[in-house]
Amino acid sequence: MGNNNTIIFFFMFFIAAFTAFAQSAGLRYALIPENPRPGEPVTIGVAGGENAGLTSAALLSGGQRLARASFFAVAGEADQSFMAAVLTVPSTAKPGAAVINVESAGGLAGAIPLHIAEREFTSEVIELNEALTDIRTAYDPRKIRESEQLWAVLGRTGSDIYYSGSFSPPVTSTRRTGFFGDRRVFRYSDGNSEASIHAGVDYGVPVGTPVSACGSGRVVLARFRIVTGNSVIIEHLPGIYSLYYHLDKIEVSAGDMVDTGTLLGRSGATGLATGPHLHWEIRVSGENTDPDAFVGRPVLDKDAILGKLNGGVPKTDVLERQP
Ligand SMILES: [Zn+2]
Repeated sequence: MGNNNTIIFFFMFFIAAFTAFAQSAGLRYALIPENPRPGEPVTIGVAGGENAGLTSAALLSGGQRLARASFFAVAGEADQSFMAAVLTVPSTAKPGAAVINVESAGGLAGAIPLHIAEREFTSEVIELNEALTDIRTAYDPRKIRESEQLWAVLGRTGSDIYYSGSFSPPVTSTRRTGFFGDRRVFRYSDGNSEASIHAGVDYGVPVGTPVSACGSGRVVLARFRIVTGNSVIIEHLPGIYSLYYHLDKIEVSAGDMVDTGTLLGRSGATGLATGPHLHWEIRVSGENTDPDAFVGRPVLDKDAILGKLNGGVPKTDVLERQP
């Protein structure tokens, strides 16, 4: 009797193990790009993953998990549907070999190797007067609450896809006073200093400059915050947000649907700002991401992903080979 149960147990075990293997063997992966630089997003497309219970993709390097993102379904006809996840290589990641683990409810479904390319960031020192030093360093329970509220927004991964093209910059000016990933040292009025990494791009534009949505999406936050001043946040793709800080005036409300180019407000110098500017930031599953990486190419390029998944030549490669 016990032996029979043991045999049945092992039989069931092998069936389950074989099913899991067959599912993972049936998965096909596309990674765009395959050599990302620190601060850049990586899109993982998985075909055949609809029934594999895919949950998340995790970026690992040097035995450490650097980033993680949830999978969402990209619907299409017949073999045109796939699962996708977008994660960002942190700007602090070291160049070299890395791997993206594709995780399912049943465990590890696959591992995709990639190479993190080299990237240099600029360094700068920013002197803060007493008032600005206070904004950054003074204890204020409202700042803690605002930070918690922000993370509650950015940590959410919805399932709605509002946007699939390339982003447009939020202002027409190209004058930049701060770059993504700048290694900054804030020198406080009391002589102390603190290191920080700039999370977005700063446009040096005068107060009142129109600021528009970089892509279509849903406004998820539109209000004053102590450190970032008048702030607007838009969700574009599951877990992908654009942020606009230090505005003089806000012209949208939370819950509004916006298109590329919709007026969000006017630039200003509210919150922690040493002068009038627009701080534009992109977050991918909570991680700071280089906004320029979204201007040059669509982050969810269905044609390129399907080209790789279905064994064809990805559209981008074809374009690169043209004379
Ligand atoms: Zn900034």
